[in-house]
Amino acid sequence: MLIDGYKRVHDYLRISLTDSCNLRCFYCMPDEKISCMPHKHLMQPEEIDQIASLFVRLGVKKIRLTGGEPLVRKEAADIIRRLGKYPVELTMTTNGIRLHEFADVLQEAGLRSVNISLDTLQRDTFQHLTRRDHFQQVYDNILLATRLGMRVKVNVVAMKGINDGEINDFVALTQELPLHIRFIEFMPFTGNHWEYARVIGLQEILDIVGQRFQFAPIAHKKHDTAKNFQVEGHAGTFAIISTMTKPFCDDCNRMRLTADGKMKNCLFSRTETDLLSALRQGLDIDPLIRECIATKAAERGGQITDDYTHTDPLLIENRSMIAIGG
Ligand code: SAM
Ligand code: SF4
Repeated sequence: MLIDGYKRVHDYLRISLTDSCNLRCFYCMPDEKISCMPHKHLMQPEEIDQIASLFVRLGVKKIRLTGGEPLVRKEAADIIRRLGKYPVELTMTTNGIRLHEFADVLQEAGLRSVNISLDTLQRDTFQHLTRRDHFQQVYDNILLATRLGMRVKVNVVAMKGINDGEINDFVALTQELPLHIRFIEFMPFTGNHWEYARVIGLQEILDIVGQRFQFAPIAHKKHDTAKNFQVEGHAGTFAIISTMTKPFCDDCNRMRLTADGKMKNCLFSRTETDLLSALRQGLDIDPLIRECIATKAAERGGQITDDYTHTDPLLIENRSMIAIGG
């Protein structure tokens, strides 16, 4: 078992397959000219397999594939098949653009749930946010995933002046569709234009929803980062991931592996542990993993204080979100 200094058991691993993407969401990708990691620096399918098998032996019960966009990784199907053989809940966070091409592979690998990101229901806002015109493809693939019987969570980064006027449109979608809409508070990363004025917090979102719908909380599951709610009579639910206004670090069970094989014990961790280089040198990475977990900070990588309103994203020592794996 992997236990940190605060007695938190870590049994959930998020593996980034790439730092490339077929979208350019401004809040995720830094401004500077984008250069992706060279292919030889990425964990290769057999290396991902090897590292994953060790994490499973160390008690991991859930693996999420992410990125960048996991489904643009050339070897995505091979990697998904390899991980499908482990006794874990395998899942994925994707922008959904290529989901239809992987429907068979995902089903074969036993993926029963998927998180698809979509921040707006307006085609022109989608284009403005992502600098690409793929709204319809993403929306169609959300519907496809529900038809395939998957549990579909829709990730919506809530941002003032961008999609605050659409919060209730997303909640309205849950009336007929069995979707689980998750509003994520906008988080600061290097070069992502974060400012406090753009954050729409938990309470503010609930106030907006309350103007149109009557809703009630749903029982909280252990390790759930989201606070969940349902409008009476709706097929789906909505939730808020309140990393900024009400963090959930006390109950954290997450670890991350970047596409170039660096382990991060927190999304906001300053330090990284280079598992891939050690693996390539033939070293035992078990002690490195344990040491990485043992040194985890109590909250938000020790980089964002309770008074998050004054956070300066330029002072946070971290990668951009696209290079971490969200
Ligand atoms: N490309 C995939 C996708 O978009 O779903 C997976 C990677 S993406 C980095 C994972 C999640 O992080 C997405 O739901 C995205 O909206 C979210 N995200 C990225 N930057 C964020 C930020 N600054 N604040 C909050 N959420 C963010
Ligand atoms: Fe790509 Fe996902 Fe980041 Fe958007 S949020 S740029 S889709 S990795």
